[in-house]
Amino acid sequence: MPTIQERIKHITATIPTNVRLVAVSKYQPEEYILDAYSAGQRIFGESHAQELRLKHEHLPKDIEWHFIGHLQTNKVKYIAPFIAMIHSVDSFRLLEEINKQAAKTQRTIPCLIQVHIAQEETKFGFTPEECVEFFAQKEWQQFKHIKIKGLMCMASNTEDEDRIKNEFRSVHELFLHIKNNLFDDKDDFTECSWGMSDDYPIAIDEGSTLVRIGSLIFGERG
Ligand SMILES: *Cc1c(COP(=O)(O)O)cnc(C)c1O
Repeated sequence: MPTIQERIKHITATIPTNVRLVAVSKYQPEEYILDAYSAGQRIFGESHAQELRLKHEHLPKDIEWHFIGHLQTNKVKYIAPFIAMIHSVDSFRLLEEINKQAAKTQRTIPCLIQVHIAQEETKFGFTPEECVEFFAQKEWQQFKHIKIKGLMCMASNTEDEDRIKNEFRSVHELFLHIKNNLFDDKDDFTECSWGMSDDYPIAIDEGSTLVRIGSLIFGERG
C-alpha cells in the first residue's frame, strides 16, 4: 500500500502544472493532513465549518484551506477570517453573507459559483441557466469583499465515462461563455474546479484547473 506521502507525490507529478491539487481532508485526522503536508501539499479541502475551524487552529498556518461543501449561511463566520477559497457558493444569499463576514475581518474572499449539472447527486448549485442569469445581472459586483474566480461542479456518480465527460464539457463551455461574454475583468475569471478521485483525469481533459481529491490520497473516510 502506498503511503499518503507517496500518493501526494504521485498525483502532483502526474497532473499538468496549470492544475492545482486540493487534498480533500474532510473527516480525516490531523496526522494524515500532516503526512500530506510533509510531502509538500499545502492546499486542503474541507466541507464542515466547525471541523475546519479546529483543524485551522491546530495545523500549520501556511496551509491554504478551501471550503468545498454546502455552506450554511450561519456558519460562514467561523471560516471567514482565514478561508483561502470557497468553491461551493450555491445561492445569492450565501454570497451576501460571505461578503458581510469578509468585510468584518477586512478580507476579500475568492469564491467559485457551484453549477448543478449531475442528474441527482446533489440538490445544491445554480443550474446552467441560473448561472448565466446570475452573471448577466451583475448584482454580485456590489460585493466588494468577494472575488468570483470561476465555477465548480460535480459530475454524476456513474460508471458511464461519456456522461461524465459530457457534463464536465458542458460546464467548461458555460465557463468560457461567461468569461467571454458576461465577465468584465476576464483575467480574474480563471478557475475550473472539477474532478474527484474517480474522475479527475477526465476533468483535466475538460479544462479543470483545481482537482479535489480525497479518498485516493487518504483512503476511505472514517
Ligand atoms: C468529498 C468531496 C470530494 C472528494 O471526493 P473523493 O471521491 O474522496 O475524492 C470532492 N469534492 C467535494 C465537493 C466533496 O464533497
